[in-house]
Amino acid sequence: MSIRIETSTCIGCGRCTDVCPGNLLFLQAGKAAIRDRRDCWGCTACVKECPKNAIFFTLEAELGGAGGRLYAEDSDETLSWVLKLADGAEQRIVVNKKQANAY
Ligand code: SF4
Ligand code: SF4
Repeated sequence: MSIRIETSTCIGCGRCTDVCPGNLLFLQAGKAAIRDRRDCWGCTACVKECPKNAIFFTLEAELGGAGGRLYAEDSDETLSWVLKLADGAEQRIVVNKKQANAY
């Protein structure tokens, strides 16, 4: 997987830049940017923080093919991992945050 930022939907809130443990993300002209995506070790912190699904992982061929993306939708009760494939098909893994240790 590879981290990507869709600048057209990024609102420049800076939440992703605040949580990256490697300090890889920064704001540039009001949009999130990454210094070098090869340094990202896929901790998912930024993906979980983004309120606009503007930062996500792209999936290689064995995980959904070109154009597939994995992002997170956060709510008070749940964290949903959304796998959206290039053909528009979607799968969700919904984690109850209060029972996260059970998974
Ligand atoms: S996945 Fe983790 S290491 Fe990679 S850019 Fe996001 S917060 Fe930083
Ligand atoms: S959290 Fe999302 S919307 Fe906010 S700056 Fe980062 S990529 Fe942009």
